[in-house]
Formats: sequence, structure tokens, C-alpha cells
Amino acid sequence: MKQSEAFLQCQSCKKIIFSVDFEQNLRVCPYCGHHHRISAETRIQWTFDEDSFEETDTDLRSGNPLDFPDYIDKLRTAEQKTGKFDSITGGRAKLSGMPVSIAVADFGFMGGSMGSVAGEKITRCLERAANEGMPAIIFCASGGARMQEGLLSLMQMAKTTAAVQQCREAGVPYIAVFTDPTMAGVLASYASVADVIVAEPKALVGFAGARVSKQAGVSKVPDDFQTAEFCLKHGMIDAIVPRKEMRATLTSLVKTLGGHLLEVKA
Ligand SMILES: [Zn+2]
Repeated sequence: MKQSEAFLQCQSCKKIIFSVDFEQNLRVCPYCGHHHRISAETRIQWTFDEDSFEETDTDLRSGNPLDFPDYIDKLRTAEQKTGKFDSITGGRAKLSGMPVSIAVADFGFMGGSMGSVAGEKITRCLERAANEGMPAIIFCASGGARMQEGLLSLMQMAKTTAAVQQCREAGVPYIAVFTDPTMAGVLASYASVADVIVAEPKALVGFAGARVSKQAGVSKVPDDFQTAEFCLKHGMIDAIVPRKEMRATLTSLVKTLGGHLLEVKA
């Protein structure tokens, strides 16, 4: 995003927006409705009850199991850029007073990619929900598995999906929110097996991105291919929810699907 102090330019329609208006509109373009990407911290602040977030699993760090060239440098750069140690921020929070287990992806950290640490944090988020009897809410934003950790990254797909089953067995709901982009190994694992899936408008959602599809010889695709709108039309997601309505929608879902958990605790 090109940004001066008072103005910035929409990444989609390229119109100039007042920074103050942009922030008040939750970084959604007032002209075209484009939902710009936001950090995990901002997402948590805008979605959950004020000061209710307690971060967990802050001690997890990636190694370089394959001795992949420049991986450690890339991790350090991402750490400096985002102030965190991996693409997932997880913990306990409250949503309109109701306890929830959350994990929030940050695309700014190596494209939100899922390596061992991100996979472990997602797994712990789901296990915490199952063990403590509270709904799980996961905000997805990822290009997919992290190639620098090779097979270990792909193993996270099976591990996180198995953790979803623990929520099922414990009778706790799991809600996934697809934000731009939700792709590849993340879409093909824990993201797409949630009880309820909502997406932000125009979020890119798919398995193989445009470049990979082209390499595979796919030349003709519908105009809205790999968008949240396409997924809704074809039954892959349940609803498209604008950022301004996300908190209210999640509150309603948690009350409806997790009401039995609240009654037990009351
Ligand atoms: Zn715009």
C-alpha cells in the first residue's frame, strides 16, 4: 500500500483514501469495498473483547530441519518485520463475554505459511477448545505449507486435521474464517473441515494458485475462480461476511453452536 501520512491508495481501485477514514472503515476501501490485509494483532483487537486476549505457546520456534538455504535469514527478517516468531498467533480470548480458543494467521509473516510451529499452534488451539470445552475460531491467511520445512510442513496438514476431530468428539464447535488469501495446504487441511466457514468478501480461496494452474495447462477458468464468492456459489463455504459484521456474526454463531457449553459453565 502506498502511504503518505494523511492519505493512502486503495490496492484494488487505486483511489486515494484519507487514512483516518480508512482506519475507521476497518481498512476496507470506502469506494470499492476491497478488504486490505491486516495483522493478527489488529484482527484480534477488532474482533474480540478488549484486553481479553491471553496469548499462549509463545516459546515455539522454528529450526531449520532441512538446512534449507537462507531459511533462518528469512525467519529473522519476518520476525523483525512483524514482531513475532511465526505466522500464527494463538491463545484464549472472549467474544461478547464468551470464552473462545483462537488462532489468527498473519500473512505478513512469510506469506502466512504453515511450518511446524504454525501447525503446532493451530493444533494446540483446537486441542485447547476440546479440552476446556469452548468453541474454536481460526482466522486463515496463508499461501499454504512452508516449503523450507518440506515434508514436516506437509505433516502439519494431517496433524491439524486430526485435531479438528478432537473438537468433534468433545462436542465443541470450530469456526473458520477465510481471509485473503486462504490457499493450498491450509485450505486442504484444517481450514476446509470447520463446522462453519465464513469468508471476507473477495478473499482468494483455492488450492493451486494462478501460476501453478497455468503451469498445469489450465488456461480457461471462470472470472470469479478462486474467490470467496465462487466458493459460496459452489457450496464450499457458508457465508461471506464483511469485516464490519464479523464480530456480530461470530458472536451469533458461537451463541447458537456453543450455547450448550455456556449453560454448563453458568
Ligand atoms: Zn478501492
